[in-house]
Formats: sequence, C-alpha cells, structure tokens
Amino acid sequence: MSESLKLVASPWNESEGTCACCGKRSKTIWGDISADEVAVAAYFVQWTVDAPEHMPNFDFVIGRWGDGASVEDRFLVSLVFKPGRDGGSFMVIDGKERWKKHSKSCARAMQRAEVVGTDLAADVFALVDTLWLTDGRMAEVRELNNAE
Ligand SMILES: [Zn+2]
Repeated sequence: MSESLKLVASPWNESEGTCACCGKRSKTIWGDISADEVAVAAYFVQWTVDAPEHMPNFDFVIGRWGDGASVEDRFLVSLVFKPGRDGGSFMVIDGKERWKKHSKSCARAMQRAEVVGTDLAADVFALVDTLWLTDGRMAEVRELNNAE
C-alpha cells in the first residue's frame, strides 16, 4: 500500500447479538477497504452497546483478495478501541485469539510486536483512519466515548 493511493471504505453488512457476559446488545459491522478500486482489506468491528468497558474490537484481514488469491495471501491485524472523553484511542493487540473468528479468510494473525514500530503499522493506521472517518456506522462506536 502506498500513501499516494486513496483508500475507500465500503460497508457490506451488520449483525446484532447479545453479549455473553452481561446480556447487553452487541453489534458487528463489516466491509472492505479498497485502494484504486482494488480490495486491500476486509474489516470487522464488534462492540457492546452502552458498554465502553468492553473495548470494541477492530479486526482487519489484510492482503490480496479476488480471483487467484487464497487465505495464504492474507493475514489478520487486530486492534481494540479504548473509549474515552478525550476521543478515545486505538491499540494493536495480539491477533491470535481473534484469528479463530477469521480463520476461513486468512492464514495467520499478526502479534502486536509484529505490527508496532514496523512499516506495517503505518498501513494499518491508514486503514483505521479510512474506516473511522468514512464508514458512517462508526458514529455508534464513537458514542461510547460519551458513555465512558
Ligand atoms: Zn458483556
């Protein structure tokens, strides 16, 4: 991914569930991010409504998609969003646990140390930025900043 490419987030779908630990409503939304109309990542955001203490998960399956691409061409990078009155912050986490949810779409998960401080981190934060600023559904995640 080069910085000159314009990234675009395209929402696909969403689902609702119940948080196993507290019974509150949970939501999952997903979509893809493309660069010059070529998909470079799929994203999955999961959070519990009105429960900022459950830090929302942001999972990105990054790599090649489409004809000729396989799970081996893609990997998972996982972040959590920590809501806060200051606008909140993102943190890269070890992807291993999250990978179980995405094992059909990518061959492996990056651990935090494989992302933080590397060139990949810049790409990941470009994806986060694009999603955060252009998928309108992120407003619901931002509401957790006020509930905190
Ligand atoms: Zn819960």
